[in-house]
Amino acid sequence: MKISVIGTGYVGLVTGTCLAETGNEVICVDIDEQKVQKMRDGEVPIYEPHLDVLFERNIKANRLRFTTSLKEGLDHGDIIFLALPTPEDEDGSADLSYVLGVSDEIGKIISEYKVIVDKSTVPVGTAEKVHSAIALNAKCDFDVVSNPEFLREGFAVDDFLKPERIVVGSSSDRATELIKKLYKPFVRSGNPIIIMDEKSAELTKYAANSFLATKITFMNEIANYCEKVGADVDMVRRGMGTDSRIGKRFLFPGIGYGGSCFPKDVKALHKSGKDDNYDFKILESVIEVNQSQKVVLIPKIVDYFSGDLKGKTFAIWGLAFKPETDDIREAPALNIIDSLLSKGASIKAFDPEAMDNVARKYGDKITFSKSMYEVLDKADALIICTEWSIFRTPDFDRIKNDLTNDVIFDGRNLYDLTDIEKEEITYFSIGRKDIK
Ligand code: NAD
Repeated sequence: MKISVIGTGYVGLVTGTCLAETGNEVICVDIDEQKVQKMRDGEVPIYEPHLDVLFERNIKANRLRFTTSLKEGLDHGDIIFLALPTPEDEDGSADLSYVLGVSDEIGKIISEYKVIVDKSTVPVGTAEKVHSAIALNAKCDFDVVSNPEFLREGFAVDDFLKPERIVVGSSSDRATELIKKLYKPFVRSGNPIIIMDEKSAELTKYAANSFLATKITFMNEIANYCEKVGADVDMVRRGMGTDSRIGKRFLFPGIGYGGSCFPKDVKALHKSGKDDNYDFKILESVIEVNQSQKVVLIPKIVDYFSGDLKGKTFAIWGLAFKPETDDIREAPALNIIDSLLSKGASIKAFDPEAMDNVARKYGDKITFSKSMYEVLDKADALIICTEWSIFRTPDFDRIKNDLTNDVIFDGRNLYDLTDIEKEEITYFSIGRKDIK
């Protein structure tokens, strides 16, 4: 089939590449000329495990091409995916200007039947708005389908190739049949393509992300309470998670959720509720608790240094909002860095993938190291913000040797308390007793 993908970010590039992998002819469109040039030169512009192999293979096979021309994209594809940003607007709502702006252009350009598939995360009613924007100028038939994306950064390729489910919101049989045909190779194991109306599909995505953000936040509150009463959140987590109604996943406490999706999606659903006279009280709490959770380590750090961080140097392990990505959008590490800088401290940081993105944001306000050990040299303490695997079994002797004080503030509970006790390191984590 002939496919076009408009917007070539984490979702668009993975979508385009994976659809090429199943034999479709794909054109990816992006307004970012530099990005398009990079991709034409064979460079994957984001870090996403396994993407490079598929990317290279499909470019070589001439099934994957890149352009800045929306017209070229629209002329090519029978199915047009919108994988455009829907960032948080000032009032917390999803900014639909990218999606509706492109929809407006689509109406002016298309001259034969197309299926426009919205993959961006958008509020209920957006498919209707997209339809109206296109219909304003379109001189041919078209259908608009809502097909929210559930891939996780860091596992995006696997998630796309083997989705647990595909949600399709459509009221056109013709469009539904085309989409089912396109996705058939991805659900051979029997996972469902769930067909529903557009509004339900749009809400499914917000409901899923908000539920997961709530689960994380609930556990963070349990962790905070554990600290008050001397319980161990690791034990509580295991005790709870083995109940199959609850499940083991998303129960790990830490310094809050971040990324390009959960924060903005929870806020957007909350704001949509408000606009429709529904007060999502749970989501309001989730937003508030997560904001304070991101800096929950700061009072512990300030206490340890007797209230004065001026002139202290902190080594940070992990900057990305989660492991296996270079994405730093809403990453808790940034809240911690901002807070420490405002208190007069200096920051040295190491992350396997995200340092370039952080350097672009902070300039020379912080320094970076090439290795997880180099960054410790003469630092007053180590702070762990992202649970990259390489941090899980470190050489504690090197840590003790290089740090000025043998103290770790661990925002991701990477180590067993018994191991830390043996190492004689001062250790603060989340929802567990301090080791001093
Ligand atoms: P992104 O910011 O990584 O990529 C968006 C791309 O669109 C950029 O390359 C940008 O240059 C391009 N773009 C902007 N305006 C354009 C235009 N007019 N024409 C062509 N290209 C244009 O965004 P993303 O993370 O891929 O997210 C896209 C959507 O998918 C969002 O709604 C997001 O909420 C949703 N989503 C994201 C994820 C994720 O893990 N990142 C997962 C599921 C859903």
